[in-house]
Amino acid sequence: MSEKLNTTQMNELRALLLARRAELLVQMEQNRENLIPPTQDEGAVLQRNVAREVDQALTDIDATDIARIDNALKRMDEGSYGECGECGCTIPFERLKIEPQTQHCVACKSRWENQQAPR
Ligand SMILES: [Zn+2]
Repeated sequence: MSEKLNTTQMNELRALLLARRAELLVQMEQNRENLIPPTQDEGAVLQRNVAREVDQALTDIDATDIARIDNALKRMDEGSYGECGECGCTIPFERLKIEPQTQHCVACKSRWENQQAPR
């Protein structure tokens, strides 16, 4: 059994989440800037469209990550942060430090991943 998070650990994780969130916002902003400038040259247009699709995909991933981080910060305020959303156990601090936005303990996550894996 792992201990509940103490205030120092909680503050460290909150700082991690906020830093990651800020990083993602900068990335999203850069992606968005890449999307803007139109060009008249056909070859360049084609290339830009490919780049645009890639950027759009990246932006979607970033948006999902930011939503997860926001969710984690909200749970921090509510006091339910660090609990596994599946089995309710306390997620170890070491795991949260690597992936502070996670909502599941390793056991539940690997069980879930095994279920998703093709047979
Ligand atoms: Zn669990």
